[in-house]
Amino acid sequence: MRWYAAIAGTVLLTVGAGLALASPLLPMAQGYERIAPRIWVDRAATPAQRQTVIARVTEAEATAGTDLGSWQAAPRWQVCTSAACDTGGPRGRTYLDRLIRLRPSVVDDPRFYLHEAIHAELHNAAGFTGWLGGKRLPVWLDEGVAVLSSGTDGAPKAAPDCATPAARPPRTPEDFALLAGPKGQTATEAYRLCACATQDWQAAGNSIDGLTARLRAGETF
Ligand SMILES: [Zn+2]
Repeated sequence: MRWYAAIAGTVLLTVGAGLALASPLLPMAQGYERIAPRIWVDRAATPAQRQTVIARVTEAEATAGTDLGSWQAAPRWQVCTSAACDTGGPRGRTYLDRLIRLRPSVVDDPRFYLHEAIHAELHNAAGFTGWLGGKRLPVWLDEGVAVLSSGTDGAPKAAPDCATPAARPPRTPEDFALLAGPKGQTATEAYRLCACATQDWQAAGNSIDGLTARLRAGETF
């Protein structure tokens, strides 16, 4: 009986984890309205905001494709424009290459759309197992490319910004979380470390527009 119970428990845990991961992938189940094939906004979004969101997404995906040299991701965008749907946490978040969520404070800001679009395409190129835990695509490179391309918080403003890195650039999401602090109070510094490490990587002869092709060829960074 005991091994039956163990198997049943494992199956339940696996299904539970799968549902937990899948639920945020279903914006249509959370009171959002579809305004374009891959774009959802909350129902409170004004007509002007809907136009802005579509324009920002279109521009971000095109720019990410130009910056990275490829655009194969097809993420769903879930943009919250009002306090009622605001869940707190990071202003933008990308789940694998499947879903991008943005909070009300950045609805107008093209930098955050581009930052998350860059993540989606990098995750698509690394594949699920390559992205997981920073295995082939370390967090410093994932965040560094996103910050340098988009100019979001942590982008180096001048050369001395990168002269004295205070800590080792984060490889895994856990490393990043430690640097960013429990409430994200030192997140800008964590992003800066990632951007500086990516600039060092570029100075060593690597290019951002060649990265997705190298990830798709199986390279590890
Ligand atoms: Zn990011």
